[in-house]
Amino acid sequence: MSDVKERKFKGGQQHIWDATSISAFLICERKWHLMNFVRPDLPVYPGVGRKEYGSIVHDCLDAYYRAGGSLKAAFKRAGKYVELKDGRSNVRSYEGLFLLLALYHVKYRHEPATTLIHDGELFSEKRIEIPWLGTRFSGYFDLAETHQGKIRIVDHKVTSADITGAGAMRYFQLFKPDIQTYLYTVMGRILWGDDFDCLVINAIRPMSGGAQFSRHEVRYTPSELEEFTNLTRRVLRAAETLTNSEVIPYRPTGCGLYGGCDYLPICQFPPEARG
Ligand code: SF4
Repeated sequence: MSDVKERKFKGGQQHIWDATSISAFLICERKWHLMNFVRPDLPVYPGVGRKEYGSIVHDCLDAYYRAGGSLKAAFKRAGKYVELKDGRSNVRSYEGLFLLLALYHVKYRHEPATTLIHDGELFSEKRIEIPWLGTRFSGYFDLAETHQGKIRIVDHKVTSADITGAGAMRYFQLFKPDIQTYLYTVMGRILWGDDFDCLVINAIRPMSGGAQFSRHEVRYTPSELEEFTNLTRRVLRAAETLTNSEVIPYRPTGCGLYGGCDYLPICQFPPEARG
């Protein structure tokens, strides 16, 4: 287990929470339990799927922003992945990666925003951990930037969804209400107080022979944040009770969500065979 994971589950209790664990708890208590205490790491399958391609885009944008919006730096990082390609890789995606980065640069190079410097470091692809509600919460922020005198957190989303016109309206509706955008807004306010403005969803859709880009600001009012705070308090209380309990309930409505639950092969066995 990594240091973070060891600290996260010290003494059989979850000590560091994040958007994934709050969401898992709300979808299905058993999912949260399996994820945290039984099988913390699911097998990673080789090859470049959509998820891995998304991570590569994130990594190239990290190089881009760290170098002050340099396409050269983004290409250099992309080149690292092309060199690593092998028989299992999706080579067309790699070729499209350079085009995607070039189009991204053309679209956003004049954005009036600068990457934030936080604790003497450029704020790009950064893990943040903060105390809240008597425990700790963590998040991986893709980017924080100053924009018109205020700070905003930018979350890159690589998606296959249509992000133009009515498609964009439907797509961005997914992010409010949403546990991650709620939690990042709370974290932004704790970190930067009134200097924090909003969360920006930076949607990127790789396409054959091009790419689509669209951005959307997510804002929560104080009363919405109060609702989320109360929800999180309830999750923390229930999780504490559940950790000390013999019975782990489940919600069958969670099993098929988002194309199916990763833990289904475990739940198909009786409780004594799941550990
Ligand atoms: S398969 Fe269903 S019951 Fe099992 S953890 Fe997932 S959501 Fe819960």
